[in-house]
Amino acid sequence: MTAATSVRFAHRHLLGVEGLSPDEITLLLDLSESYIKQSRAADKKATLLRGRTIINLFFESSTRTRTSFELAGKRLGGDVINMSAEVSSVKKGETLIDTAMTLNAMHPDVLVVRHPDSGAVKLLSEKVNCAVINAGDGTHEHPTQALLDALAIRRRRGSLQGLTVAICGDIMHSRVARSNIHLLTAMGARVRVVAPPTLLPACIDRMGVEVFTDMRAGLRDCDIVMMLRLQTERMQGSFVPSIREYFRFYGLDYAKLEVAKPDALIMHPGPMNRGVEIDSEVADDIDRSLIREQVEMGVAVRMACLDILTRNLQSNEAAT
Ligand code: ASP
Repeated sequence: MTAATSVRFAHRHLLGVEGLSPDEITLLLDLSESYIKQSRAADKKATLLRGRTIINLFFESSTRTRTSFELAGKRLGGDVINMSAEVSSVKKGETLIDTAMTLNAMHPDVLVVRHPDSGAVKLLSEKVNCAVINAGDGTHEHPTQALLDALAIRRRRGSLQGLTVAICGDIMHSRVARSNIHLLTAMGARVRVVAPPTLLPACIDRMGVEVFTDMRAGLRDCDIVMMLRLQTERMQGSFVPSIREYFRFYGLDYAKLEVAKPDALIMHPGPMNRGVEIDSEVADDIDRSLIREQVEMGVAVRMACLDILTRNLQSNEAAT
């Protein structure tokens, strides 16, 4: 039994990393470890969520997050339903709240929601009786991404404490950056953000990070380099002069990586744009790139989140 198993996860929903304590984060990461083992075994199926219904409600496209939530729910024995806004009543003009109320009437146990607007998942969580997991809301948070990133780092480095992590690229439009900043700073890592001035949100320094506009300065002596995609779908107008120029100054290649620690690890949440924010060879470097491991960790972390939130449902159901 790890120390973290005595910690209570006192949240009905998982809407963000902000507000989670270091103990709660550790609890989720420790629990994820056991699910890595289960996912690597020949028999991947458990019965923990038997009888439970999980609805994946995605108002934005997704490959990794949606698939891994589906796998996570199924590996725990739950019934998983996938709904995408493209084919739902949202297309017919139904409001978010009406969609939430409709689904709520079918008694799901967990709603996993992705939405293009920051704050939409929280709003929805206030209207339903089940647990809600934020699978990414606008530029706000993507908590399970930060948890899986933390798990991947912790497995390679033993701890997050004292590491220097450089998050590079489109910080302005990135929910991944925000969730990672909350998590990494809470766990005692030093966080740097590296981006052109046009892709840095105002007051980012108030989040407890060091800000760099030069890649070499930002990457110097860091342990982890986390690259981000240019999230053009969230941009109005152009934020970089040209892709070629962006890659020249901010794309991760071996020349820029040289100033980081010799064993610095490379991460990317995906989807990756090769030749834009990251050089293909660097992305595929089997010794240094954690990108594939991040995907694997995604399933384990999502199993842990479903586990912990349904345990909380159980204690509420017992109390009523
Ligand atoms: N998959 C991540 C997200 O949903 C990162 C990205 O899309 O670039 O935010």
